[in-house]
Amino acid sequence: MKFDLTEEQLAVRDAARDFAQNELLPGVIERDEHQKFPAEQVKMMGELGFMGMMVDPKYGGSGMDSVSYVLAMEEISKIDASASVCMSVNNSLVCWGLEKYGNEEQKQKYLTRLAKGEIIGAFCLSEPEAGSDATSQRTTAEDKGDYYLLNGTKNWITNGNSASVYIVMAQTDASKAHKGINALIVEKGMEGFVVGKKENKLGIRGSDTHSLMFQDVKVPKANRIGDDGFGFSFAMSTLNGGRIGIASQALGIASGAMELSIAYAKERKAFGKSIAEHQAIQFKLADMATEIEAARLLCLRAAQLKDQKADFSQASAMAKLFASDVAMKTTVEAVQIHGGYGYVKEYHVERLMRDAKITQIYEGTSEIQKIVISRGLLKN
Ligand SMILES: Cc1cc2nc3c(=O)[nH]c(=O)nc-3n(C[C@H](O)[C@H](O)[C@H](O)COP(=O)(O)OP(=O)(O)OC[C@H]3O[C@@H](n4cnc5c(N)ncnc54)[C@H](O)[C@@H]3O)c2cc1C
Repeated sequence: MKFDLTEEQLAVRDAARDFAQNELLPGVIERDEHQKFPAEQVKMMGELGFMGMMVDPKYGGSGMDSVSYVLAMEEISKIDASASVCMSVNNSLVCWGLEKYGNEEQKQKYLTRLAKGEIIGAFCLSEPEAGSDATSQRTTAEDKGDYYLLNGTKNWITNGNSASVYIVMAQTDASKAHKGINALIVEKGMEGFVVGKKENKLGIRGSDTHSLMFQDVKVPKANRIGDDGFGFSFAMSTLNGGRIGIASQALGIASGAMELSIAYAKERKAFGKSIAEHQAIQFKLADMATEIEAARLLCLRAAQLKDQKADFSQASAMAKLFASDVAMKTTVEAVQIHGGYGYVKEYHVERLMRDAKITQIYEGTSEIQKIVISRGLLKN
């Protein structure tokens, strides 16, 4: 394994860092407080090539590798995890899935605009009764010849209102169980498609999470991704890559909290010296740095395997499982290092602590990652 970063990868990381500092940091506290989606900032992310990072330039993307994606996700997540989840869903779950499994017409019609960030995409698998057990889809897509009649409800959809294009998993033939599920491209504005309520969340409050309702929505057959019944495999395959994005988000939340903690520890005085001179604080920082480095290596390894077109499903599950735990632990300790100041909004670490929690839940909970990892270990 080689983790020496190329000049191009370093330039991507620096560009993401500058963007996050200059454009995301101002206003991040207010956006969190008022649950405001970072629309202008996401538009800029599109212009900078962060919304379709791994997509071939012929479809409007930046043509970068997954390692660069990890680096950019870390930098953006250090400052604003609400912006980075929008980026992760658009890159990993929507653009990547369309580029790999969509047909040429779908790529021309949807992918080119999604990859440039001109429009945003959403990935719609979860339902009120189907989360970890995603095979229990109750949304139906009845085959009506040249279109599907879509009915049902999706829950917790990231970019739920800001998206223009939604990839929706729905059951066409229940007798075939998960092999009867299809992945359909649904456009905002299709008759019978209603964006439901916005969730009032603990963290990533700038991200717009909505339920979606479909009532007799006619989705043309041309909008089905892959063959009939491919929807569940499509969802599982894209989620494998999505986990690299969320693992990198967790990594960024953790490293952002550590950077703030180091700066604060040097500046804050207690008992006649900076708290950084107290060994108890030094040891917290040492643990943070060690665990963050391990999380980073797991993220880079999963990305490298993906770039090498090797099987990365176990590696991405390990990266997400570990990095999300590191994010949770590091942010709790960051609040502790900040003392009372850590408990108020101005110092950012309380937001990072709230944002960290979701990384253990979405795109497969930590328990589900353990199922994926152990299944891989035991399969032979
Ligand atoms: C802010 C936010 C954004 C989201 N964005 C999206 C999105 O864009 N698209 C989308 O489709 N979904 C999205 N989700 C949904 C998310 O992926 C699910 O919440 C997640 O998969 C868990 O499903 P659930 O909430 O139904 O929990 P459940 O599946 O009901 O799980 C409850 C608990 O039981 C545990 N559990 C369940 N099954 C097992 C088992 N077999 N073994 C051991 N433990 C188990 C879980 O780990 C968890 O601790 C989002 C969720 C949130 C909160």
